[in-house]
Amino acid sequence: MGAGESGVGTAILGKKEGYDVFVSDKGTITNQYKEVLRNFEIEWEEQQHTEDRIFNADVVMKSPGIPDNVALIKSLLEKGILVVSEIEFASKYTGATIVGITGSNGKTTTTMLTHHVLKHGGLEINMAGNIGDSFAKQVAESDALFYVLELSSFQLDGIIDFAPHIAVLTNITPDHLDRYEYKFENYIASKFRITMNQNENDFFIYDADDEVISAYLEKHPIRSRLLPFSLKRKVKNGGCLENGNIKITIDNNEFIMPTSDLSLKGNHNVKNAMAAATVSQLLKIRKTTIRECLENFHGVEHRLEDVLKINNVQYINDSKATNVNATFYALDAMKSSTVWIVGGVDKGNDYSELYPLVNEKVKAIICLGVDNSKIVNAFGNCVDNIIETQSMKEAVQLAYKMTERNDNVLLSPACASFDLFKNYEERGRLFKEAVREL
Ligand code: ADP
Repeated sequence: MGAGESGVGTAILGKKEGYDVFVSDKGTITNQYKEVLRNFEIEWEEQQHTEDRIFNADVVMKSPGIPDNVALIKSLLEKGILVVSEIEFASKYTGATIVGITGSNGKTTTTMLTHHVLKHGGLEINMAGNIGDSFAKQVAESDALFYVLELSSFQLDGIIDFAPHIAVLTNITPDHLDRYEYKFENYIASKFRITMNQNENDFFIYDADDEVISAYLEKHPIRSRLLPFSLKRKVKNGGCLENGNIKITIDNNEFIMPTSDLSLKGNHNVKNAMAAATVSQLLKIRKTTIRECLENFHGVEHRLEDVLKINNVQYINDSKATNVNATFYALDAMKSSTVWIVGGVDKGNDYSELYPLVNEKVKAIICLGVDNSKIVNAFGNCVDNIIETQSMKEAVQLAYKMTERNDNVLLSPACASFDLFKNYEERGRLFKEAVREL
């Protein structure tokens, strides 16, 4: 069900494995995917779900975008038909060692960084999950010995036996609660499903500074070996800071490198680097390779991306920051006075955790959204200068006028983008265009 990247990939793999495959999508299927389905002689329908055919299935792969409470899914479950995610389906058909990465923020960055190190370390490794070609398609067409998978909670909700050898949990902050009956505990439990089928020979790497994670672990012990990372305290096994270095220790084997050599800036990226380095050390990558790769990784577009320096003012695109926690780390990473462009569709944000950082670093706020009232109310007392606009071009031009040498202009919206933009990518692109036109 669902003919997007994961649905079409599953269909390809299903066909290869000898299943009688039928693809059903309630919306319209893009021409590109229709072409693929035709090429593989896979039957499909769009703008409807033919229940008779679907109820006839042995197994249904449900796209992550389809909520569990849709009537058809409920009926499938009542009839005892197996409903799984692409990750569950595809993992049955590969013998690869899997590194699974989840969390509320930092999944893409940590996945790409980990893949970068492991690939340069010489492993035959693919990257999938929410990135690029689906896992299922890669299992069908270009299987590898290792995978690093970016896993959303929706992918994890649909697993039964899936067990990554190494699981990484970057952090947990409230997100997607509309899919979890507005209960944070349901979302937390969903994230921890990444450890559900792990055993004593597997590993769980996680942020020990995250109180939500620590509290959950205290109440729900897990079987795999724990490798925490922390910026605040020493850990015996795992990652921590020591004299300006990150230090990863696994059974007395130490990896050490100065945090100042990391190519990605900001405390959140020190954590992401610790997670990637821990995975790499577990998989026996040479320490010089790990170090080089953490030094030369270019970063991912729209995540604290340096765009241009104009008149000694640095313009930074963090359009992917669609929640408060991501923006917290962006502001935390600012080393000088900052004009902050913020706003969009608020997903129930609580801005109070940003007050100390805004007081310290933000000289002006430019609200870029259809309804900015919540931001104006939240920060009216912290910052003298709050301006509203609904145009990216105007936002950037206003920011340009407000800055002086050594300032930053940071787009880190803390909100979703779809009031004014197609998606966060478009928002980030328009920001960069506007900066280049200055
Ligand atoms: P995800 O795939 O989980 O959405 P991304 O790597 O795309 O994560 O980053 C999303 C946003 O979160 C960006 O603004 C990025 O700068 C920020 N971010 C990255 N890593 C972390 C982290 N460990 N903690 C908090 N924020 C982070």
